[in-house]
Amino acid sequence: MALTRAGRLLPGAAGRGVVFTLHHVRPAGPAKFDPNAILAVTPAFLEQAIGVALKRGLTPVHLHDLPELLADESDRRKFVAFTLDDGYRNNAEFAAPVFRKHGVPYTVFVTPGFSTRTRTIWWETAAALAGQGPSFRFDFGAGPEAVATATGLQKFAAFERLAAFVQSIDEDEAVRRIDEAAAAVGIDPLAIVDDLVMTVDELRTLAADPLAHLGAHTMTHVNLMRVSAERLHHEIAASTRTIEDWVGVKPRSFSYPYGWASAAGEREFAATAAAGFEVAVTTRPAVLPVGRLARPTALGRVSLNGLYQQPRYVEALLSGIPFRLMG
Ligand SMILES: [Zn+2]
Repeated sequence: MALTRAGRLLPGAAGRGVVFTLHHVRPAGPAKFDPNAILAVTPAFLEQAIGVALKRGLTPVHLHDLPELLADESDRRKFVAFTLDDGYRNNAEFAAPVFRKHGVPYTVFVTPGFSTRTRTIWWETAAALAGQGPSFRFDFGAGPEAVATATGLQKFAAFERLAAFVQSIDEDEAVRRIDEAAAAVGIDPLAIVDDLVMTVDELRTLAADPLAHLGAHTMTHVNLMRVSAERLHHEIAASTRTIEDWVGVKPRSFSYPYGWASAAGEREFAATAAAGFEVAVTTRPAVLPVGRLARPTALGRVSLNGLYQQPRYVEALLSGIPFRLMG
């Protein structure tokens, strides 16, 4: 890949390393409709990514140690921090053994609403709803309609409409309506959460791994930019307190749900800083800057993307070049 060559010509472009974002880590399943495929990588690809990072001389560290490490001007090392969002069971089953094998620390960002089965995962529910066929009924605001899901294209289009719908009205209400539509065709949204997400007991077991740290990811995985100041404060404080109660260690890092520009902004960066977080992460692509972090609660990350599971893509991501080209 040409970008890799560019990375060798411009070594300065790589900054001080990178924070990687992961979600699901699990073996590839049978091919099926999966609009969330970018969120899943295989354990083998995770191991390749670790291998590429180590080969390039990056030092694996905990995310929460980065502000102090980067502030030390005498330290010339480059770092890599691995983070996994949402608290999926496959993190403990498939990712933890890979991290253990290579002695790599990692942070799992937990959403207590998922862990306690009091909040459903709308993008998984929507995928199940669009994946069954040939249609389902939904009210996008102009009255109930039959949404066609007979073909692959229709399934993707239906999923996209549901995803846009979630961003268009109150998120709690949108999630409730997607749950309702799913239930009407025999899908149990909480059973999906139960299947995918670690229970409190499982989180306690994971937290006993000396390489693992549990960070906070709100109570309900709501888009923080779209809630009241009161709700914003509650989502941050309650998730932090709840996780500490469960595992006995206070979360030292925070991940903004969705993390894109319309889901975390100045108000949210200030709120996590005020709540005492040393570091909080978005999903906006960036490598680690040279020097002290200017905004430690607005730190970008690089996603290990399920659609690009090749070592050469990790090389290109580590070079920092793709972000320069993307401006
Ligand atoms: Zn998340």
